[in-house]
Formats: sequence, C-alpha cells, structure tokens
Amino acid sequence: MANVLVIAEHEAGQLKLATLSAVAFARKVAAETGGQFEILVIGENVSSIAELLRSYGASAVLLADHAQLRHPVSDKYAQVIADVVKQRGITIIAAAASTFSKDVLPRAAALLDAGMLSDVTDCRHEGDEFIFKRVMFAGNIIATVKLDGPIKFLTIRPAAFAHPEKSPESSPLTPINVETEKLPAFIEYGGCEAKASGRPDSTEARVVVSGGRAIKNLEDFERLIGGLADVLGGAIGSSRALVDSGVTPNSLQVGQTGKIIAPELYIAVGISGAIQHLAGIKDAKVIVAINKDAEAPIFEVADFGLVGDAYQIVPELMDKLRK
Ligand SMILES: Cc1cc2nc3c(=O)[nH]c(=O)nc-3n(C[C@H](O)[C@H](O)[C@H](O)COP(=O)(O)OP(=O)(O)OC[C@H]3O[C@@H](n4cnc5c(N)ncnc54)[C@H](O)[C@@H]3O)c2cc1C
Repeated sequence: MANVLVIAEHEAGQLKLATLSAVAFARKVAAETGGQFEILVIGENVSSIAELLRSYGASAVLLADHAQLRHPVSDKYAQVIADVVKQRGITIIAAAASTFSKDVLPRAAALLDAGMLSDVTDCRHEGDEFIFKRVMFAGNIIATVKLDGPIKFLTIRPAAFAHPEKSPESSPLTPINVETEKLPAFIEYGGCEAKASGRPDSTEARVVVSGGRAIKNLEDFERLIGGLADVLGGAIGSSRALVDSGVTPNSLQVGQTGKIIAPELYIAVGISGAIQHLAGIKDAKVIVAINKDAEAPIFEVADFGLVGDAYQIVPELMDKLRK
C-alpha cells in the first residue's frame, strides 16, 4: 500500500498544469496498491490553488500557507515537505519534473535520508516493491530501477501521464501547521528578475515555435519566431546555438540542458536537429521543421517539413495563418 504525496507547483497565483501529471501518477499508484494520495500546496495566500486541486480525487488537499513561505525558497519548502511526510506516513512523494522540483525535492529527500529518482515515466509494483522506469542520457535510455528505503521521492515526466479526469467529489482541505522555528534561517529570499512576457511558458504551451542558428539577431527572432508564435497563440523556444551566441536568453533553451517540452505542435525554424536539441522535444506530438538544408537531421523526426529559407517561409506562413 502506498501513501503518495503530490507537491503542487504554482507561480504568480497560477497552478502549473504539469502538476496534474503528477496527480495522475499518484492516482494510478494509489488505486493499484489500495493506498491513497494527498496533494500539498505550499506558499502564502495560495488557497485558490488548493481549491482547484480539490476536484481530482485526493483523500486530502493539504495547505501549508504562511508568510514565511511566500517565495519558493527551496530549503524552507523542503523542510515543510519533510515534516508533512513524517507526520502523515507518506511513502512516495511525487512532483512534476521541472526546475522547481529539481531544486526542492532532493533537499527534502536528504532531510529524510531517502532516495530520489527523476524523470519517471512508469511505475509498477510487485508486492511491496516498486519498479520504476525513467529516462536517462537525453532520452536515449529507458532505465528500469528500484529505490531502496521506505520513502521514495520522484519527479514525473509530464508527457508520461495524461491529466486526470475531475472527480465528482471534492477532497477535504486540511490546513498544515507550519513549524516556523524549524524553517532554516540561513537563507533569505533576495528577489527575482524576470522579463514580463505575454506568451505562455514553453513547458505548458500547446504550441511552441523555436528558432535556431539560422536566425541572425534578436530583432529577427522576435519578428519571425515571436511573430509566428503569436499568430498561433504559442510559446517561444530556442536552440542552444542561439543562446550561446547571445541572441536569446538561457530561459528559452529547449533540449537536454534546457527545457524538456511536450507541446501538441512544435515548429523548429532553422534548427539542424542535434541529438541534444531533440532530447527536449521527444514528447512533442507533431513536429514541423523549416530548414534550407533538405538533409538536416531534423527532417528525420519531423512529421512535416518545409525546405527553404526561413526568412522567406515564415513571413509567408504568418500571412497565410492570419488569413
Ligand atoms: C552537453 C551538450 C548539451 C547540449 N544541450 C543542448 C540543448 O539543450 N539544446 C540545444 O538546442 N542544443 C544543445 N547542445 C548543442 C547541440 O549539439 C547543437 O550544437 C545545437 O542544438 C545546434 O543549434 P542549431 O540547430 O540552432 O544550429 P546548427 O546546428 O548550426 O543548425 C542551424 C540550421 O539552420 C539551417 N539554416 C541556416 N540558415 C537557414 C535559413 N535562412 N533558413 C532555414 N534554415 C537555415 C541550417 O541548414 C542548419 O540545419 C548541447 C551540446 C552539448 C555538447
């Protein structure tokens, strides 16, 4: 029997939809093992997020709401998670695979001397033993692994678990008493600098348009890649070549050392299709490539390809789409 705890991820008052994949995972494991799952929301004034999560069949939605948890300071969040795990007899902790969970979960696991697996795509159990599948080496290897110890921390690949249906009953909302004296005092939130963008996040978007080395400068990137993304209501992304050359910020990089995304439509503009880039788009449903080189490796994975100059094709495409 597994007692699963899902850690909800949110930003600026919005639930990160990838959390629902972790909920789907938890629901499956709880149902298969005759256990239960709970969802933990941490932050300040986050009851609306908790409210949203009450319709997914959890046995409780736990709310750790406190001024000291206003910002996602990983050491503080990790302490709250570790305390909840101990108090509620949790055996599996799951969160969507993301930068947030990569930062917080290993710290919580260390506090409990527990093991952790990232990028889990499947799970089965034999008696009391759990056997997980996880992707490794940029998605080229699917490893089958077990974790020693009674408590297991996992991050879940969002594309591996479809968002769950809503359930008719509402989960009870349980406030958690945050033991502030236990929160680490050695770390303080200093601030966050983020460029305001009206576009969706590439890890959440249905459509992502990415540009590669073919795009010569930021102005062209905004006009062609940003322009096409806006016509389609999508997010923007970039290959590492553009990040390294200073055209795009690191936050846009898609790939092995960037973001792992799973949009319904991915449009790669002037991107060759290096294996490290493909590692980030393996879960995209439909891939469209625009490249002037018909032999570019991106065409091997693309569902649709346009051979030609991006500077000519993209404006034509935008025109047609607008019409
Ligand atoms: C450890 C490691 C990690 C890495 N992680 C990542 C990662 O996370 N993400 C990532 O993207 N890369 C990553 N890389 C880099 C990766 O190997 C490639 O170098 C990079 O993806 C290439 O970017 P690109 O496709 O934009 O550039 P290029 O490979 O130079 O390709 C440019 C493409 O544009 C086409 N082109 C040129 N002009 C035009 C035009 N006018 N119209 C249409 N097409 C045109 C060319 O035919 C070519 O195919 C990593 C590398 C290493 C070693």
